[in-house]
Amino acid sequence: MPLLSSSIGAIKPHYDVVVVGSGYGGGIAASRLARAKKRVCVLERGKELLAGDFPDTYAKFSQETQISLPAEALGPEHYGPRTGLYDVRLDEKMNVVVGCGLGGTSLINAGITVRPDARLFDDPRWPVALCNDPALLEEGFRRAEEMLRPEVYPDHLPKPAKLIAIEAAGRAIGEKVSRVPLSIAFESGLSPVGLKEAACRLCGDCVSGCNHSSKRTVATTYLPDAKNHGAEIFTEVSVRRVERRNTHWVVHYELFGAGREAFDSPELFVIADMVILAAGVLGTPEILLRSRAAGLSMSSQVGAHMSANRNVLGVGFNADVTINGIGFGNLPPEGRPPVGPLITAGVDLRDRSPLDEGVVVEEGAVPGPFAHGFVRAMLLAAAAFGSRNHESLTDIVEEMERNLESICEGPYRGATNNTLVLLGIGHDDSPGRLYLDNDRIRVAWPEGREERVAEMNKILERIVRPLGATFVQNPLWSDLTRHSIVTVQPLGGCVMADDASSGAVNHLGQLFAESSGSKVHETLVVLDGSIVPRSTGINPLLTISALAERACMGLAKKLGVEIDYAFTAPSALHFTPRTPGIRFTEVMRGHVSKSIKDDCAKGEEAGKNEESPLTLHLTVIAEDLEHLLADPLHRARVVGTAAAPALSPEPMQVSDGTLSILAIDPADPKAKRLVYGMRLTTRDGAALHLEGIKYIRDDFGFDIWSDATTLFVTLYEGALGGAVAGKGVVRVGAVDFARQLRSMTVTHVEKTEDRARILLRFSEFFGLTLLETYLPFRGGLGSLVPG
Ligand SMILES: Cc1cc2nc3c(=O)[nH]c(=O)nc-3n(C[C@H](O)[C@H](O)[C@H](O)COP(=O)(O)OP(=O)(O)OC[C@H]3O[C@@H](n4cnc5c(N)ncnc54)[C@H](O)[C@@H]3O)c2cc1C
Repeated sequence: MPLLSSSIGAIKPHYDVVVVGSGYGGGIAASRLARAKKRVCVLERGKELLAGDFPDTYAKFSQETQISLPAEALGPEHYGPRTGLYDVRLDEKMNVVVGCGLGGTSLINAGITVRPDARLFDDPRWPVALCNDPALLEEGFRRAEEMLRPEVYPDHLPKPAKLIAIEAAGRAIGEKVSRVPLSIAFESGLSPVGLKEAACRLCGDCVSGCNHSSKRTVATTYLPDAKNHGAEIFTEVSVRRVERRNTHWVVHYELFGAGREAFDSPELFVIADMVILAAGVLGTPEILLRSRAAGLSMSSQVGAHMSANRNVLGVGFNADVTINGIGFGNLPPEGRPPVGPLITAGVDLRDRSPLDEGVVVEEGAVPGPFAHGFVRAMLLAAAAFGSRNHESLTDIVEEMERNLESICEGPYRGATNNTLVLLGIGHDDSPGRLYLDNDRIRVAWPEGREERVAEMNKILERIVRPLGATFVQNPLWSDLTRHSIVTVQPLGGCVMADDASSGAVNHLGQLFAESSGSKVHETLVVLDGSIVPRSTGINPLLTISALAERACMGLAKKLGVEIDYAFTAPSALHFTPRTPGIRFTEVMRGHVSKSIKDDCAKGEEAGKNEESPLTLHLTVIAEDLEHLLADPLHRARVVGTAAAPALSPEPMQVSDGTLSILAIDPADPKAKRLVYGMRLTTRDGAALHLEGIKYIRDDFGFDIWSDATTLFVTLYEGALGGAVAGKGVVRVGAVDFARQLRSMTVTHVEKTEDRARILLRFSEFFGLTLLETYLPFRGGLGSLVPG
């Protein structure tokens, strides 16, 4: 599987379109606008994970989990890595689980790709323009289905036990059971975007992430398509806010995993003619509310009308029938009964009237990484919250035997192997409100919605009874936890409407520019689950995708461009192996003068007198350490910011940055130089070029520290070779140097001992080159650097 993302060092200062987030909304916007020949850049806060990278054990699962708690909670507000794949937000009454990674929540969803009930669009909350043009919406659904190619679980494959069980339960209670369409490959082949798909192994681990290239996520459909059409994709980039400047947008972001936090470094930014916000139901309102706090005008409805899609989780524990509902995890598939895709079917009560009374209850499985904790968790939960009608003494004895079997022989036997996970989905009145608290988004969920959850619990219980199972409700749904609920399908928060008094965006996702009326920011568009103005009552990904596809058609028309939907031979998807690399952040502070054009030291003096500081916060990135060491110029990439108030009132963005580490000085073969070159862009789009040199040479006295930390800087108007705009000197201070060492990160290496080896190799290269310069010896560097 080829890598889709590029090194952040390759980011350009300006794009036609910047897409924030890479779930369904973001992937669709990137694919469609790249196909319309726009220069597209995607910024995603999570990492890029390929098949094989997804956790298959509990230990790996914990490393990929991040949990945010309310500020009032005791202890830290955030646990786990900020780029952790499973992003769990705990709040007082509402808990939300979303995905974080290239591909968004599609990486950890079940792939159910289903149309909602047609009556959904009769709701007056949808914008009139959307309801008046059903053909365009239908075209949106068609385009999304063309890419995701959903199909129901085929009859020619072995029937999973959990499917047999839910069909039996449906028959017993006299309700219809429908198989759900899934974006999963059941046969191996080549996808229209040029990627190999492998037939599903029926391992049941869709939601811990598909390791077998079978699930059609955004990362295997829309994003490779975008890349095929020229989009540039960057990961571990978290967008903080957007700012309007003249005719363009400034997208402010922070870079994860570069150690910049330790320096309190200024935000980085990229300029865009159009911004698509697709950071999901929690991410998009967070970015918008921060942008509003910084002065961007918008509707007061941003944050309002969040729905939990009436998600209710429950479990039928220790049924009389086999379920085989625990994913394989890291166990070999040979000889194991199929679990099936995570979900294959649901008891379908959607045809109720009115629409809001309809529900669907889908069968599920426990992902393999949870298998081992599952026995203890279920026995405890069943004892604390379970409800079961025993038919006879034999029934009780058999149940106890199965409990013992699980305890003695593990989760794939006995009670836990006879356990069916259920997810109820229905409608609510979108009562949630998202708000910023201490710079983070939180969910306020009102009291008084308990009855609807209790009703859903009764439906779940009715389904598991005929299977002879103990019904165990979500343990968070208790008096102790103030009846807190969990949703995996949040919707709304930035909803579509006819005007700003009832929503945040119009029917194309364009953000309303004022608190009333229908004036929009034409080029600031929201396209993700946050624009859905009501619960869908069914798994929402296809509705989100259809709305995004539809909006892209409308936006293309407004921009006067055409989207070419034809699938042609993929061009950009080359396999590039991940190589061990290094990143660190270096901060240099000093002075620069615009009035001195010939001498850096004089520029520094004049800069001090003129009170004209220059501060560089540079993140140095070597994606391939071996390549850097082999290259005679030892070039790494550089991103960051340059703050020089005399040149620009706000920090400037560094792009096209390179650092040549310890290459030979052409003027003195015994000396070495560190040469920095970079473009600086102001928020207004004006450009400068910075050239900086550190001279490493053995002149009088032991001056290794001052040589290695002093950068002589020349600034040019426009590009390198333009008129000199100023001269000066910046230096690394002792405290900043200590932080720089701590910021040193090894990338694309899993094991601690390998990371230590790479760090050692880099420091040996650096240290020995310095020694070679200051204490020359026979045999040269090559004789000392280990291979
Ligand atoms: C376990 C689970 C199972 C599910 N199963 C199904 C299913 O089978 N069918 C179905 O229809 N739905 C399912 N869903 C829900 C569905 O996957 C989501 O509704 C859908 O993926 C949301 O798409 P989106 O484009 O709105 O946002 P997301 O897919 O959440 O994408 C948002 C992206 O933005 C990124 N982001 C956030 N903030 C920032 C920032 N500041 N800067 C940069 N990037 C940012 C996030 O990391 C993420 O990648 C499931 C969800 C879960 C959790």
